[in-house]
Amino acid sequence: MFNALVMEKDDESGLASPSVKQLSLDDLPNGDVTVAVEYSTVNYKDGLCTSPKGGGLVRNYPHVPGIDYAGTVEASSDDRFKPGDKVVLTGWRVGEAHWGGYSQKANALADWLVPLPDGLDARQAMAVGTAGFTAMLAVMALEDHGMTPDHGPVLVTGAAGGVGSVATAILSNLGYEVAAVTGRPEAGDYLKSLGASTIVPREELNETTKRPLESESWAGCVDAVGGEMLARVLGQMKYGASVAAVGLAGGAALPATVIPFLLRGVNLLGIDSVMQPYENRVRAWRRIATDLPMDKLEAMVQPATLNDLPQLGADILKGQVKGRVVVDVNA
Ligand code: NDP
Repeated sequence: MFNALVMEKDDESGLASPSVKQLSLDDLPNGDVTVAVEYSTVNYKDGLCTSPKGGGLVRNYPHVPGIDYAGTVEASSDDRFKPGDKVVLTGWRVGEAHWGGYSQKANALADWLVPLPDGLDARQAMAVGTAGFTAMLAVMALEDHGMTPDHGPVLVTGAAGGVGSVATAILSNLGYEVAAVTGRPEAGDYLKSLGASTIVPREELNETTKRPLESESWAGCVDAVGGEMLARVLGQMKYGASVAAVGLAGGAALPATVIPFLLRGVNLLGIDSVMQPYENRVRAWRRIATDLPMDKLEAMVQPATLNDLPQLGADILKGQVKGRVVVDVNA
């Protein structure tokens, strides 16, 4: 028997609620690989999946959330993995459509798993998590489109959140000047410790402007916020620069004009971590192991247990989680 956080739906109210329960291996959905999960984490989507309505992502109950996890292979019917291998899983709608990592054991398809790169253990992998993995994908996409440190400052929005914190640390370590946008003035010292050179108050970019173009300020942008902020940022990009659109913490609408694309050759790059091809996953995890300083990663971490998850899920939906939560599922 092992512990898992299980969401169960009340038939009368139609609402789901979480509790830590004992399950057996027979309760798990089928998979090629059984993983002894060591750590999971809390992403924005986890907040949705642990909410009473499942955020429109969870269709079937009972459900075990947790969109990412890292641990050790216990059994495998697929040649690519053997007992003892260290693995990490992000994406593939695990924790949404499939049972996830808020559990001491999980069954996965072999296609979903990536071997942990040298230099990264299971706890560090979940300190990175889907948020940090996505931040790395965003930085890689910006680099692939020509961004280099000598082009000027790079903007990170939603900077004190998970994606933003990891993006800030990676970019700064790669030699970029990072301008970090935050709505939490008290997070300024934290963001500077991660390597941000400038703190940009959220109000400066939240207000809409009628001008489709403003002065050319940013050589790149990792945007976790979307909405009006993304629309505003597009008009502030330098000629030929790119924005990696990662998230929608501030809204899904994009009230923008096409003028920055037409007159400044600005690129809007979509970043999806969920269906990312295997080769690019491996490339991103290797880059994380080399380009993300582990002392900065440690500074972002707050530890948690399965019992803390309902509260943390609610907190992340309110934008109140700073940095990265690491859930020790065996604590
Ligand atoms: P967090 O909640 O940790 O961070 C989001 C941050 O955005 C907050 O910390 C806050 O930063 C800022 N923010 C929140 N609300 C607003 C608002 N109304 N207006 C402006 N800024 C706001 O979430 P994650 O970092 O884990 O995820 C960020 C986004 O990226 C989410 O939308 C998530 O769904 C998405 N995502 C997408 C992925 C993909 O594959 N494309 C993968 C992973 C995440 P601050 O306090 O500094 O202002």
